[in-house]
Parts: sequence; C-alpha cells; structure tokens
Amino acid sequence: MTMPVKTLCPYCGVGCGLEVIQTSGQGAQGEAVPLWKVRGDRTHPSSQGMMCVKGATVLDSIAKDRLLYPMVRPSLDHPFERISWDTALNIIVEQIQRVRDTHGADALCMYGSGQFVTEDYYTAQKLWKGCLGTNNFDANSRLCMSSAVSGYIQSLGSDGPPCTYEDLELTDCAFLIGTNTAECHPIVFNRLRKHHKNNPAVQMIVVDPRETPTAQAADLHLAIHPGTDIDLLNGIAYLLLAWGKCDRPFIANHTTGFDAFAEVVRHYPPEVVAKRCGISVSDLETAARIWEGAERVLSLWSMGINQSSEGTAKVRAIINLHLLTGQIGKPGAGPFSLTGQPNAMGGREAGGLSHLLPGYRSLKNPQHRAEVEQFWQLPPGQIAPEPGRTVWEMIQGLETGAVQLFWIAATNPIVSLPDLARVKAALRQSPFTIYQEAYYPTETSAYAHLLLPATQWSEKTGTMTNSERRVTLCPAFQPPIGEAREDWAIFAEVGRRLGFADHFPFQSAAEVHAEFVQLTQGRPCDLSGISHQRLQQGPLQWPCPAEAPASVSDPAKRLYTDRQFPTPDSRAQFSAYHSRGLSEPPNPDYPYILTNGRVYGHWHTLTRTGRTAKTSQMHPHPFLEIHPRDAAALNLEEGDWVAVHSQRGSAQFPATLTRGITPGTVFVPMHWGELWADAAEANAMTHPHACPDSRQPELKACAVQLVPLAEHSAQGMSSEVRSHRVAPKERV
Ligand code: SF4
Repeated sequence: MTMPVKTLCPYCGVGCGLEVIQTSGQGAQGEAVPLWKVRGDRTHPSSQGMMCVKGATVLDSIAKDRLLYPMVRPSLDHPFERISWDTALNIIVEQIQRVRDTHGADALCMYGSGQFVTEDYYTAQKLWKGCLGTNNFDANSRLCMSSAVSGYIQSLGSDGPPCTYEDLELTDCAFLIGTNTAECHPIVFNRLRKHHKNNPAVQMIVVDPRETPTAQAADLHLAIHPGTDIDLLNGIAYLLLAWGKCDRPFIANHTTGFDAFAEVVRHYPPEVVAKRCGISVSDLETAARIWEGAERVLSLWSMGINQSSEGTAKVRAIINLHLLTGQIGKPGAGPFSLTGQPNAMGGREAGGLSHLLPGYRSLKNPQHRAEVEQFWQLPPGQIAPEPGRTVWEMIQGLETGAVQLFWIAATNPIVSLPDLARVKAALRQSPFTIYQEAYYPTETSAYAHLLLPATQWSEKTGTMTNSERRVTLCPAFQPPIGEAREDWAIFAEVGRRLGFADHFPFQSAAEVHAEFVQLTQGRPCDLSGISHQRLQQGPLQWPCPAEAPASVSDPAKRLYTDRQFPTPDSRAQFSAYHSRGLSEPPNPDYPYILTNGRVYGHWHTLTRTGRTAKTSQMHPHPFLEIHPRDAAALNLEEGDWVAVHSQRGSAQFPATLTRGITPGTVFVPMHWGELWADAAEANAMTHPHACPDSRQPELKACAVQLVPLAEHSAQGMSSEVRSHRVAPKERV
C-alpha cells in the first residue's frame, strides 16, 4: 500500500483533515485499477481524525455525471455542441473584448465560489479587478459569510475569526446563536459536545427558533422568534450592565463607543425583550447569569445570524457582549463565526468579494488599491475605487441589459440565490453566460451558453483555509476526468489570450500561491510564511509571517491576545443598534415565517451529495416542519402535502409535525433544486432584501401562506431540466 495522501474535506468550513489511501481493484477486463479509500487524518489539528458522513463519502460522487469537455450553443433553445478548449477560450476572449468595446468593463461579471481553492480565487481577482479593471467579482460567500466579514471589520478593525478550535475545549460557556452546529458543522460540535459532557460545569446555551439536534444538547434552549436576535443580545447586555458584570478596565483601555452602546441597551429591559423574543424572563435571566458567571465565553454563529437584513448589526451585537465582558483574545473565549464553505476563508484572504482586494484589503482604500496595482505592475488608477456588483446586482444588471457577460464558476445559483423565478428570468435574458463546473447537468447548466469542464477536489492542487484560519494543502492525487482543467489555469489562460501574458506566467498552483502570499505580507492575514512546500509538513494557521522561524510549525493560535486591534486607535468598537426585526414579517395574507437550512448528510444544492447513495438514502426527499398546533389549524396530518406560497413563488412539501419548531414558523431544507425533486425549491419563496452593510440577503426568513393539498403535482420545471431528471441522465 502506498503512503496516504493528506488533504482536506471539500465540504464545509470545519475543514477536517482527510487521508486518502490507494488500494487496487479490478477493471472490467480484469486489469488492475487504482481504488481510493478515505479516512480521518489523526494528525490534522482541526479534526483529530474525525469526519462526518459527507467527508466519509466524498469519493463516491467524484466520477459521476461529469462535464467532460467544453460545449457551446447559440441560444438556450439549442442543444449544446462539443468544441475544443482552443475554440472555447477564443470564444471567451472574443466575447470579453466585444463587451468591453461596446458596453465597457462594467458589463462583465464573474460569480465564483467558496469551493474554489485560494489559487483560483487569486487568479480571478488579478484577471478581473486588475487586468480588466472591473470589480464585478462576487462569490457565493455573499450568501454565507459576508455579514461576519463586515461585522468583524467594523467592530475589530479587520476580518478574521479571533478564535481557534482549541477554544471549544477550553470554554466554560458555549453560546451558540443562529447555528445548527450538530448538523451543519458536525466535527466542531463533536469536539464541543465531548467537552460539555465531560465537564458538568460547562454550560451550553443554544438560541434557535427550532429545537435542532444542537438545541437538544443544550443546558438552555432559547427558542426566540425569528428576527429577534438583537433584542435578545441587547437584553443580555442590559442585565450584565445592571448587575455590574462588565470588564471596566478592558472597556476603558481597549474599546470605543461604550456610551452610545449603553444608551441603546437601556431600552431592552427583560420584560420587553422576553415578550419580543417569545421567551420567559426567567430564561433570559438564566442566559445572562450564565454569561455573568463564566470565565471564558465562546460564541459560535453561522447562517442564522449572517443571512439577515441586519446581519452585520447582529454580528456586532454578539461582539458587543464580548467587549462588554472582556471575553476576547484569551483561551476559551471570543466571537467565532463558523464558515459555511470549505474555502470561503481563503476567498476572503484573496479578496474574493466585490468590495475586497487580496490581503484583507478594501477597494475603497486608495492606499490598498495602490499597493495592489504596484504589486501587479499595473498603471496607477487601473483598479476602480467603487465596489463592484454583488451577485444580486449582477442579476439586476442582467434584467436591465447592463450586464452583457456573466461567468459563473463552481456554484449553482439557480438553486441557491433568493427569489428564483426572478433569477431564472434574468438568466434567460443573459446575452452570454459561461458556466465553469465539474458536474453536468446542474440546474444552472440549463441557463448557460458555454460550458467549461473544471477539475475538482482530488484532481487539482491548491490550498484551503478553514474557520480557525488553518491552511491545508489539497494535492491532486488522480488525473482529471475528461478534458477538465483547473479553474485558476482557465482564468490564467484567458488572461494570457487577452494580452496579459506577463501577468499570468504561472505553471503551477504552487507558483500562484507563492505570488499571492507576498501580497499578504504585513497584513492581518499574513500568509507570507506559508508555501505549498511547507504545507507538505502539515497545515498552518495564520498569521504566519515569512520571518516566523521554520522550527515553529504552527506559530499562531488566536488573535488579539495583546488586546490591540487593527483600528486607527488600536481599540475595538462597540456598536449601538436597535433591533429592526425581519425585513418581511408575517402579515394577514402570509401569516407564517418560512425558515430554511441544511440537513446533516446533504451539502448545498446536492451536486455531490445527491449523487452519493448513502447521503441520498439518509435524506431521500424534502419536507416541511410544522408545529402540531399550526398543523391542526390547517387540518394537516403527518405526511400530508402542503403548498407554500410567498409573494414571489411556491413549492410543495410533505408535512412533518414536530413540537421542535416555534408555532408560526415552518422549516424546509435548502438543498433540493429542480434536478432532484418536484417544486421543492426553498428559494422559490425567499426574498433578496439584504443587509445594507454586508449586502447579504435575508435567506433565513420570509412570510408565507400554507395551503393543504389534496395531491402533489410538479410545477415550474423547465423542460430541459425535467428531461435530465426523468430520463436517464445525459452523459457527455
Ligand atoms: Fe467535511 Fe465538514 Fe464533515 Fe468535516 S464536518 S468531514 S469538513 S463536511
């Protein structure tokens, strides 16, 4: 047996280390063929040998339904035709030049993915923001972590989760809000749960409208009404202030904005907060007492906080509690966002959102733009100062004709964006859509003019950064399938053909990485001491400056241990936000709140896990969770079909009755698109109203009406997608 290949799970942001072991099997003609098995990597500090079902089955979907070669069609009504890479690249170059000449660079848009390796992200930034001069690069992190990014920047001066997974085992109070960690970040939860079980003094508070498996493990579950997180957080702050449980020296020496914060918080007495949140005063006081008595409070949050029209304010309200109590920059304590995607963190480091530049730089900052222009050897002023289009603004641009070329890579927006009817209509209007993806079909491939086959995990080399800022090398260990190419190599080749050969000399992902990390030198996310070669010895956390001694294998653990923050005055900033509640609250016509989320075995839009037998068997179909009281009012019984209507669209689900959801709120999983179920898209109903700071849409809540159905019928499925699913899947 050969040595195992060490790599990282390509699913969630926990970032579990995997070992892939080669054995040999027999091919159809009895020939020896390599077979791969996966197991947890015991030497990886983040996961310590653990993995969940997604990691354990990751190899099962690698070779299924792959896009094998480039294909093109003149319009969405035509079938695709196979073309060569050379032809495909020439078409892209012609289209980009045509659009730039006729409409300007602002008509070019690229929408990337937290599934990219950092090298993909970096090359795309250089091509788009640098060489082409448009900041219209956004990624699906916009739907995932952008509120955490803006919250960290505004409160602490920089993006970057301050904590490390070791804190899961050092805390004496875990405060989980807006996160179903047990199902969505299972190995983080395993570590926390073990610590909680083994240490009776450790308290776990879970804030969630649903009694999730996470909430079931808690000492205190606060089932607040959706949209009342800030009420709760300000209410806890009110009590801590009233009881004098503040770290006055920390506030005085290391923060600003306390007085304005205290002025807002005084409007959140327990009776008011408990009523708004739908919890008892006693439970609210218990939560505050746990905070009061804890030496080390660790707050964990995820999409229940970030996917909100006040997402940044919610993140900052969490951070306020840590500043109030001095619970930051020390073991077992701090605000800790749990990243959704495997490399959304690497995307942030590489500047992979429409308002960022590499190295945690901001497009709005003239010095940051100048630094990047100089490094990229571009003329001063080449990088535009205005933030580019967010993905939703790209959709709006397609509607108006302002966007003429839309390049989508490694993501499936026809399932994951809000208000899907509008998204589909906009994509139908797109003059030219490029779709770069490993799999075919996906729901989005039905809306593309040009398909580009991309390599994926196991076939490409690159780095990914997990939630605790730990960078792991993911080496290629098997050849690409078909004619698939690495995403970074496609971007670099387009750059060369557009006349920027000097800017894209890369022959390998290691060369891309070596250039990228130079741009992080001296920045908060300093990765300049990290290289592909060094990562072969094991993963590394940043900050990891070049001057860090090579003997130190892991120089960083947690941020802000010196209580100095990267703000102009080195102080963290309190925020002072009143709660605004949901952007679309229930009303007489749409009286229920629809929320959505992941289930344990599935990942995002099922592109991989829908093609994995074990995870598909675990979760064979979508469903709607409803409280028995609401079900009785609608005369619904277990398994009855119910139509869900919002102002934007509809879907149909069998009902699952559970007391584990707040009355008035219903839940559906987010995963099922048109390829996998009839009329079960969660985002058919959601709306695009977004946080004004992070521009992250409020995917987590919208107002709906529920109508019991006599029978279930498929609706709204495009004929192309239906043909893929009903007939045996077309392979190319
Ligand atoms: Fe992969 Fe996340 Fe599961 Fe770890 S917890 S094995 S990273 S999906």
